[in-house]
Amino acid sequence: MNWKTEYQLRDMPVDQRLGLTCKKCGLYQAQTVAELLTAFAPTTYPDEVEAALTCRKWGCKGALRLEVTNDAKLEGFQGGLA
Ligand SMILES: [Zn+2]
Repeated sequence: MNWKTEYQLRDMPVDQRLGLTCKKCGLYQAQTVAELLTAFAPTTYPDEVEAALTCRKWGCKGALRLEVTNDAKLEGFQGGLA
């Protein structure tokens, strides 16, 4: 099961922090689901967020890898939905 295509942003806690790591330069940034909702529709899948965003570093524009920053919290959230 891939959480990136299993859930939409609206299914996740708004305070859930997601990490975005640039595959090219390694720049790391974290955003909460609430922050992502200011730029994306609630029905957006994390997979689509990952594909839409690029590295913030000037001139890089590398692809990002999206991951959950707190595994314990995601487990609890998945358990809650099961
Ligand atoms: Zn980068």
